[in-house]
Order: sequence, then structure tokens, then C-alpha cells
Amino acid sequence: MEIGITEVGGILTKSNLPIAGYSVNPYVGCPHACRYCYACFMKRFTGHTEAWGEFIDVKFWKPVAHPEKYRGKTVIVGSVTDPYNPEEEKFRRTRAFLEEMKGSGIKLIITTKSDLVLRDLDLIREYDAPMVCLSVNTLDEAFRADMDRAVSIERRIDALRKCHEAGIRTTCFISPIFPGITDVFAIMDRVGGCSDYIWLENLNLRGNFKADIMGYIAERHPDLLPLYRDIYDGRNRAYWHMLDAKAAEYAERTGSRYVTNEEPFLGETQGKPVIINYFYHSEIKQSAKHPRR
Ligand code: SF4
Repeated sequence: MEIGITEVGGILTKSNLPIAGYSVNPYVGCPHACRYCYACFMKRFTGHTEAWGEFIDVKFWKPVAHPEKYRGKTVIVGSVTDPYNPEEEKFRRTRAFLEEMKGSGIKLIITTKSDLVLRDLDLIREYDAPMVCLSVNTLDEAFRADMDRAVSIERRIDALRKCHEAGIRTTCFISPIFPGITDVFAIMDRVGGCSDYIWLENLNLRGNFKADIMGYIAERHPDLLPLYRDIYDGRNRAYWHMLDAKAAEYAERTGSRYVTNEEPFLGETQGKPVIINYFYHSEIKQSAKHPRR
């Protein structure tokens, strides 16, 4: 792992994500090296020649001027890196940000695949209605190990549960959903009791990693190759429409609420997870157009 230090002007950047006004990434690069990483385009801006996942730059920034001016803004920590990647244990830059913004009144969302987030529960709890979001896209540890170098699924679910027990709002981010591989409903059954929100996001295949993932499917799941070709070469959305309808049925059956990314929902959950569909970010809307409860 190539580790660099980089000095930047500011750490908060405007975000165009549907759920956040600002994003914070205390690192450039990500040792989790997910094969489907949507953030690997960041490498272009770094000058690194190593593969994505083989380098990380640790950010040091100028103090945030007037943290209170961000009061009420939603800030997502970890949009293009994992803020609790293994280097955070040593460099503590995510913790430094949390210390810096304590008392600022921001709405904090942390996204991670690591249970290192538990180290900072003391600080996270000082924020007003913070949210911790753990990514889980399979219950199969072998598939997980084929796809990323983050901690095991069991450790992620355990972290989700501990955050929930600590009174922190939790999201299980089921992403990316691999057609025919990710069992969305088995995951929801597992995490429903410790998730305030469940976000669903389809696998996108674009850029350099499309060939890699298609090669993996051809080798390990040849029976699914026609489906993947249909979806990713033929642009057929039928699979996602089917999953959308099933998720709506699941929500109905379990008494959960089902909404789309069209109507970002971060309000009260009334004891049941709110399931939010982020498929293709606006193409699938029909069955989740209106909240079910
Ligand atoms: S954890 Fe997120 S940022 Fe890191 S490699 Fe995986 S997808 Fe990319």
C-alpha cells in the first residue's frame, strides 16, 4: 500500500448527492479495493500509477472556518473513500473531522464498510440525530471476499446492531445489488431489526470495471451470464422492475415504508425500517411512488 500525505484547502465540498448538501472525504483512494468501485475515477486526479486500492493519500486540511455556518446542512462523510478504512486507525483524520465539527449543528451521515466506526461512537453521539450507514450486499462471505477487502459481513452487521443499540440512526446500504447473486430479502430479514433505513441500489457497470465483473460472472456464475448481458449490454431494466415490485410487496408484508430516491426520507421510522429505492436514480418509480404507510 502506497501511503501519501496531501494538504488541502478545505475538507467540506458541495455535494450533488440526493441526500446531502456537503461531502467530506478525509482520504483519497480506498484500501477496500471493491471491484465495482464507482469512486475509482478519483485516481485520475491523484497522479498515482498504482491500481485503485493500492494507494491512499491522507488529507490534512485548513481548519473549517466557522463550523456553525453549516448548521442544518446534511454532511455525508465517505462519498468517495471509506472514512474508516484501515489507515484511519493510525491517522485518525475522520475522527479529527468529527472533533472539529462537534457542536456545529450539521446533520451527520457516515458511510462505511468497517466496524472501526464503533471506535468513534462517543463522538458521533454528540451530533444531533447522526446516521451511520453500513454497506452489505451479500450474506455470502466468499462472494464478499471476491469483491472487496473490507471487514466481513458478520462484523458489519454487528457494527450496525451496536450503533443501533447506542441510539444512533442506522442504514443498511444494500449496494450494489448483483442480479441473481444479492439476496436482498435475506439481507433485509437479517438487518431489519437493527436498521432504521434500508437503501437499495442496483449494480452499475461502467468504465474499466465492466469487463472485470463480466469476466467474473462468466467464470463463477456462467448461468447468470445471459441475464448480465441482457441488463448491461442490452440495457433491459426488467430485472429491476421485478425487484422493485417485490421490494414493495416485502415492505407491505413487513409493515415497512417503501419510498424512492425522488422523495429522500430521513424522518421518523416508527419502529420499522424505511426502505428506499435508489435504482437508476429516477427510472423506476411506479410502485414506490407513494409511501405505503
Ligand atoms: S469502500 Fe467504497 S470507496 Fe472504498 S473501494 Fe469500496 S466502493 Fe470504493
